[in-house]
Amino acid sequence: MSTSFADVAERVQHIRERILRAGGGDVGIVAVTKGFGVEAIAAAVAAGITMVGENYAQEAVPKVLRARADGLEFSTHFIGHLQSNKVRSLAPVVDVWQTIDRASLVDEVAGRAVGARVFVQVNATGEDTKFGCLPGDVAALVGSAFAAGVVVEGLMAMGPTDGDAARTRAAFATTRALADRLGLRECSMGMSADLEIAVAEGATLVRIGSALFGPRSSH
Ligand SMILES: *Cc1c(COP(=O)(O)O)cnc(C)c1O
Repeated sequence: MSTSFADVAERVQHIRERILRAGGGDVGIVAVTKGFGVEAIAAAVAAGITMVGENYAQEAVPKVLRARADGLEFSTHFIGHLQSNKVRSLAPVVDVWQTIDRASLVDEVAGRAVGARVFVQVNATGEDTKFGCLPGDVAALVGSAFAAGVVVEGLMAMGPTDGDAARTRAAFATTRALADRLGLRECSMGMSADLEIAVAEGATLVRIGSALFGPRSSH
């Protein structure tokens, strides 16, 4: 795999076809560029991608600043586990905080980025290895986020670690139902391996890394 513009453009087209075949109309692609350099962002933007996902503060900040200095236009979605002490350094480059999962983070983000756009991350599989707010606690967290002055656009979830299709479907269905109940439009769910299930269950954003840029060396 390479990050050449032509290869990435072809893979973006392939992802769009997978989304359509899964029944998705208006589903956005967040290109997950963790582990790759600014050239991955450049290739994605050249292929029409407008949203970039990053996982690690230390990697994301210089990469996004460099990409913007190069004139690339995109919004940055932070999708990694978020530590409160990283919010300050991330705030200048992050447009959408997808992994808000506890009240202390709401306060931190609200304090650094007034009117910030956030998603509440849901631990929809109940696995204790997963981050995210348990489904029963999501309504309260969404309420306190709005009260603190951040804009909750939707929910974010991951499928089960074992990739089991039935449990993946159940996790995404739970997340969509919760978003609907709370009046939230966006659901960020689905990755390279499980985007079809996510789209069928109502994802509005999918987060795609390896299917666009190839395998990553582990972080
Ligand atoms: C890495 C990552 C992705 C992309 O995963 P791929 O399987 O490479 O598509 C999506 N979401 C999150 C939260 C990630 O950490």
